Amino acid sequence: MTNVQTGAGVLAGDERMLIDGELRHTASGAKFDVIDPANEQVAGQATDGTVDDMARAVGAARRAFDESDWSRDLEFRYHCLTQLHDALERNQDRLRRVLVTEVGCPVSVSGSQIDSPIDEVKHWAEHGKAFEYLVDTGMHDTPMGPARRKIHYEPVGVVGAITPWNVPFYLNIAETVPALMAGNTVVLKPAQLTPWSGSEYGRIVAEETDIPPGVFNVVVSSANEVGGALSADPRVDMITFTGSTATGRAILAAGAATVKKTLLELGGKSAHIVLDDADFNSALPLAAMMACVMSGQSCILPSRILLPRRRYDEGIEILKTSMENFPYGDPWDPGNMQGPQISDGQRRKVLGLIASGIESGARLVTGGGIPEHLPVGYYVQPTLLADVDPDSRVAQEEIFGPVLTVTAYDSDDEAVAIANNSIYGLSGEVSGEDVERAFAVATRMRTGNVSINGKSHFGITSPFGGTKQSGLGRRNGAEGYQEYLEGKTIGMPA
Ligand code: NAP
Repeated sequence: MTNVQTGAGVLAGDERMLIDGELRHTASGAKFDVIDPANEQVAGQATDGTVDDMARAVGAARRAFDESDWSRDLEFRYHCLTQLHDALERNQDRLRRVLVTEVGCPVSVSGSQIDSPIDEVKHWAEHGKAFEYLVDTGMHDTPMGPARRKIHYEPVGVVGAITPWNVPFYLNIAETVPALMAGNTVVLKPAQLTPWSGSEYGRIVAEETDIPPGVFNVVVSSANEVGGALSADPRVDMITFTGSTATGRAILAAGAATVKKTLLELGGKSAHIVLDDADFNSALPLAAMMACVMSGQSCILPSRILLPRRRYDEGIEILKTSMENFPYGDPWDPGNMQGPQISDGQRRKVLGLIASGIESGARLVTGGGIPEHLPVGYYVQPTLLADVDPDSRVAQEEIFGPVLTVTAYDSDDEAVAIANNSIYGLSGEVSGEDVERAFAVATRMRTGNVSINGKSHFGITSPFGGTKQSGLGRRNGAEGYQEYLEGKTIGMPA
């Protein structure tokens, strides 16, 4: 096992993947580099899994589902997931250091990416244990006479889980643990920029739990085609995916031939409607913070701020001050709440979209470039663009950087229309003192989730997901568990 300390706090994760109970390298021994985005240095390596490795992992998951008791033994699954929870807790510090190293997530805000998902393992174990897998719906009149009907909830089968790099450990857990507790077997394919949040999870499962070989597999790779192979494999019954809308479309197409069940959590371009009675001094500093924490690499970030025209200049001034004073830099410094972008490519994409906004007439109020005091690391200044045309690229495309765009509106109806002028429908935000009015506006936003006055919609007990091109299906809540089950209706004699 690789366990290299490369500097203060920095930690390289395990290089290996987990296939059929074995922690292993790919047959050729090929590896790829993992770059620390805060210093642009190679932090370590990961084995470079292939399409053949993926085929072996899917085969192992298929056998474990078809030939073992995993799908039928609820008590054993509860035991294993309770063990997993305890093992992750023992590894908490290591997982946090791996996360900060490979993502550049500030250690100060890593709790939601490490501590919360570990708690969620316990939640799903308890939820799954208490779940009613057999529901008697009583007697039904039929042309053949009365019939009793029962619904038996059964696991879907082999689940392929594909995750992105922005919140890798959280999503590795969120996509796989409810699937496992529901009795499925799983193949996890983490993002190539963040392989260790997946490989460490595999190592912990193999070394510290009784989860049987084949039930949980992790294949890490630097090749997109390996995720493609998972989503097209006819032995896979379901794909659970979090990532971009473009990849979501490719996954839907790949699964079409076998009509694969697909759960998709995709991109977003959320709007924040600031009503004219809002408390600007509370709503707007919070909006600026949301844009910068995680370097803006959050799917639910309300990145399009809509301000009432009569209070527009006041709002811009508060946002400008907030963004100019936001603490960012070295993710290991507990005073910082914004780190680097994940990669040079992502930084170039963010800077390109800022430039396109300016070209299309937006006014650069602050930021807009690489900070002079941070020449090393993929940093971007907190950036505010005002007077943004709602049809321009910067208002339509997901930026995934510490960037807010601001557009003025004249009426609540116009604000709702601008908010809904998007292919995305993940989340949104409304600020206003009159909560009933804010609620009415929230109900008109075509999104899966909305927060009012900063009160979070997001949590393990509430369904979360997107409308329009932001996704299909829901994570979290009772619905999120049922996504990993099929309800079989059985008609039987009275
Ligand atoms: P991405 O490029 O779509 O990649 C996501 C995952 O899909 C990675 O593991 C990637 O592997 C894999 N992949 C790439 N091409 C594939 C293909 N043809 N078939 C199967 N898998 C394939 O997304 P990302 O850039 O990592 O993540 C950022 C995106 O995720 C943003 O759009 C963000 O909004 C979204 N996101 C959504 C949510 C939500 O809950 N709705 C949460 C977090 C993030 P490689 O790494 O090898 O390319």
